[in-house]
Amino acid sequence: MVGQGRTGVSEHFDAVIVGSGFGGSVMAYRLAEAGKHVCVLERGKAYPPGSFPRTPDKMGKNFFHPLGGCPMASSPQYGVVDAFGEVFGHPGLYIADGSVMPGPVGPNPSLTIAALADRFADRILGA
Ligand SMILES: Cc1cc2nc3c(=O)[nH]c(=O)nc-3n(C[C@H](O)[C@H](O)[C@H](O)COP(=O)(O)OP(=O)(O)OC[C@H]3O[C@@H](n4cnc5c(N)ncnc54)[C@H](O)[C@@H]3O)c2cc1C
Repeated sequence: MVGQGRTGVSEHFDAVIVGSGFGGSVMAYRLAEAGKHVCVLERGKAYPPGSFPRTPDKMGKNFFHPLGGCPMASSPQYGVVDAFGEVFGHPGLYIADGSVMPGPVGPNPSLTIAALADRFADRILGA
């Protein structure tokens, strides 16, 4: 992959990671640690006044764990990615975030998401 750096000089990357959340950050760390040239694109998020709840009854609308959307499955008939996060029919395109989890795991999900990204990195690195 090729990108245009701040200097205007073309840069080559082994991987481009969109989002530096629980999944993306682990994937970026693992690939960079292995010597890969990694580009992380993070858009960030603005939190204007009023973004956070101030009363207990409003907490319920802010604390949630959305998962799924691109579920892991045994075939494209049932999901979007395989057991290693690679999108069916798109070799080299991986999803490493909570969207690959087919459903709730019970406890808070962030460590499971991080563990999945770690597993997917093993596959990419051939470990
Ligand atoms: C209020 C709240 C409290 C929570 N508390 C806990 C808890 O205590 N324990 C726990 O385990 N889980 C908790 N969770 C859930 C946990 O935060 C998520 O499950 C986890 O962050 C999901 O990881 P992810 O990698 O799928 O996505 P995220 O961590 O959300 O990362 C996605 C990243 O992608 C970036 N991004 C999105 N679109 C683009 C784009 N177009 N270009 C570039 N970057 C982009 C976002 O800015 C973000 O940084 C909480 C969630 C919320 C909302």
